[in-house]
Amino acid sequence: MDTKLSYDVAVIGGGAAGFFAAIAIAEARAGTRVVILEASPRVLTKVKVSGGGRCNVTHHLFEPKEFIKRYPRGEKELLGPFHRFGAQQTIAWFAAHGVTLKAEADGRMFPDTNSSQTIIDALQEAQRAAGVELRCRTLVQSIARTSEGFRLNLRQDDSLEARYVVLATGSMSQGLELAKSLGHELVAPVPSLFTFEIEESFLKELAGQSFAQINAQLRVGSAKKSWMQSGPALITHWGMSGPAILRLSAFAARELAEQDYKAELTVNWCGESKGDEVRSLLVQSKHDSAKKNMSNEHPFAFSKRFWEALLAYAQIPGDKVWAQLNNKELQALVEALTAMKLSVCGKGVFKEEFVTAGGIQRQDVDFRSMESRLCSGLYFAGEVLDIDGVTGGFNFQNAWTGAWLAGQHLAERLG
Ligand SMILES: Cc1cc2nc3c(=O)[nH]c(=O)nc-3n(C[C@H](O)[C@H](O)[C@H](O)COP(=O)(O)OP(=O)(O)OC[C@H]3O[C@@H](n4cnc5c(N)ncnc54)[C@H](O)[C@@H]3O)c2cc1C
Repeated sequence: MDTKLSYDVAVIGGGAAGFFAAIAIAEARAGTRVVILEASPRVLTKVKVSGGGRCNVTHHLFEPKEFIKRYPRGEKELLGPFHRFGAQQTIAWFAAHGVTLKAEADGRMFPDTNSSQTIIDALQEAQRAAGVELRCRTLVQSIARTSEGFRLNLRQDDSLEARYVVLATGSMSQGLELAKSLGHELVAPVPSLFTFEIEESFLKELAGQSFAQINAQLRVGSAKKSWMQSGPALITHWGMSGPAILRLSAFAARELAEQDYKAELTVNWCGESKGDEVRSLLVQSKHDSAKKNMSNEHPFAFSKRFWEALLAYAQIPGDKVWAQLNNKELQALVEALTAMKLSVCGKGVFKEEFVTAGGIQRQDVDFRSMESRLCSGLYFAGEVLDIDGVTGGFNFQNAWTGAWLAGQHLAERLG
């Protein structure tokens, strides 16, 4: 091998997974010749914009069995890896590299500076300190096996050789094509973590209304399967957003894509409260507020604007007094409150986090080492795999975990 252009490990992709893998190898085995090859002029660009510029690094949840439930794709495979390098190890890693992570009430963890630049600085500092070489504007166009490892073909007849390769190219098709050329099957990529556009126009007038907890059920096409999520939600100008909705978008990502984002959403605005409990509350109001206008008095924590919209939806005039509420109207109101049917008619954007479902087929990867089962010496980490999590720091944790495992295995392998 040409010593000037040869490396022990070439990491393709200068994102979260690529940096973490390269640092893990070089920190575990000093003197290892590691290079990160990044196509664009800048590195860690997704880290920069992540979490609304704050970078939601991981989630304050230390039980791997619970952690894996946040992955619509990859749940089974990630259990072992999270036992070895989970959220606690991530917190410790960043602490050892000068970054304190703090948890918010909902479990999301951010650097205490509230700036994603802190994470970028820590990763770049660790990369330099560990002696990892970084080459930007270096697109890997193709890859081939050699007797000693791999040849990576770059632009303008340039190439380099490495004994081992870590593919950390995220969801970009060019990276996936590299894996395909080495014999890997790809699961077609589709978006995950998006908001729902809702057809019913009355919702638009309620934009900005938020709910601490709704229960929402999603049915897609004629599929018998449905998805249920509970959690905070928000009505937007185009439909619905918030953790409960984003989780539904993730778990049903593939089926929604197949049905061109047409689905039926059934919302219980009262969260866990069942129809019977809500009916009892309404009957109680009939007695307690008998002479009061229904639009002025109600037993829920909803805003007046939302309550009036519910009455209109159930076709109950707002100036009606509670005593006049008949059984048919009572039933219509219970349904509006606990089982409102809405039509999802499209996919909206969620600016704080976005991820792609699909990528390298999981069964072709050994999750003890992150090495390919089809091509010895080829490793994977991050979003390039058919793994994705719900919003809350789970996607970065997948990147840190896979990258660390690949790094440890490579360091041991190199002796
Ligand atoms: C707006 C936004 C906000 C997000 N916020 C969060 C959050 O707060 N918390 C969270 O957990 N997740 C978040 N995510 C998801 C998270 O950013 C990704 O899951 C994570 O960055 C994936 O890291 P990666 O290293 O696998 O891929 P990437 O970050 O996509 O990095 C891949 C790199 O490989 C390079 N590359 C690709 N092909 C080649 C090639 N052929 N040659 C050389 N280089 C190549 C690309 O240029 C890129 O820099 C967010 C995503 C987005 C888009």
